[in-house]
Amino acid sequence: GKNTFKVYCSTMTTESKHRYSLEKDLRNALQTNQLFIEYQPKVSPETQLLTGGEALLRWKHPKLGRVSPGEFIPLAEESDLICHIGDWVIENVCRQMQKWESEGLPLIPISVNISALHLTKVDLITKVKQALTHYHIPPYLFEIEITETSLIQSSELIFSRLESLKQLGVRISLDDFGVGYSSLTHLLKFKLDALKIDKSLIANLPQKKEDSIIISTLVRMAKGLGISLVAEGVETTAQLEYLKQEECHFVQGYLFSQPVSPLNFSRLVKKGILP
Ligand code: C2E
Ligand code: CA
Ligand code: CA
Ligand code: CA
Repeated sequence: GKNTFKVYCSTMTTESKHRYSLEKDLRNALQTNQLFIEYQPKVSPETQLLTGGEALLRWKHPKLGRVSPGEFIPLAEESDLICHIGDWVIENVCRQMQKWESEGLPLIPISVNISALHLTKVDLITKVKQALTHYHIPPYLFEIEITETSLIQSSELIFSRLESLKQLGVRISLDDFGVGYSSLTHLLKFKLDALKIDKSLIANLPQKKEDSIIISTLVRMAKGLGISLVAEGVETTAQLEYLKQEECHFVQGYLFSQPVSPLNFSRLVKKGILP
């Protein structure tokens, strides 16, 4: 009816206005120190030792407060903005790693998330190389997390970028594995260093029979391929016990720690053992 159409229409306008102004704010955020990074530990299930971390981007909007990356990353991915953001993350993480080292902390592998669009750009390689050199970071301690989407879209270009990154000595990890498209063929085509099992496959462990079977199979597959396997979204001890028993290499999740500030992350690294 007429009324329904009107309501729908005005909602759309509000929604698109919001997106437009949020994108504008995000461009500005990059210049005005509203973005920052939190780090979430990766843990060995066997030893419960902290073995690495993932850098996760945060935005504190002056009016809206914290905006979640689930909301602003897709916005940034609609344009080149995501590349500027990615460059900023790479620079910031490398600087932070050097700072930790200068404070006497043992350097551990840190991963950053890189979007598909950014992966197509040759500038990414230059940026990574320059940041690693400038902050004296051993490349094998720097990991790039990509998603299946990256491997599906414009494969040839992306494969050549991934090759260049590997030549730098950087590690490549496939994120969110197990949801969406199956990329087993891609997986075998490009030699990845790590595979991250999506949290939706972890959520119902160990009760959900099908998911347990998938996990055991993935562990065996990863071992056979010489890839390390990370389970994300681990929230319960029952999930941890299952993953430990299956000999999954690394786990990450709220059970150990939420993503935390660089200072709190360095405290966790010093303690070494979690929780
Ligand atoms: P992701 O790469 O899959 O990151 C894992 C997400 O799961 C993070 O959400 C993390 O906070 C959350 N998480 C960690 N442990 C648990 C748990 O035990 N349970 C549950 N339910 N969630 C857990 P976050 O920080 O909101 O990030 C969301 C997504 O935004 C990321 O998913 C990633 O795709 C994207 N993102 C974050 N930072 C960046 C970045 O710097 N660059 C790009 N391109 N994407 C980013
Ligand atoms: Ca990730
Ligand atoms: Ca993930
Ligand atoms: Ca994700």
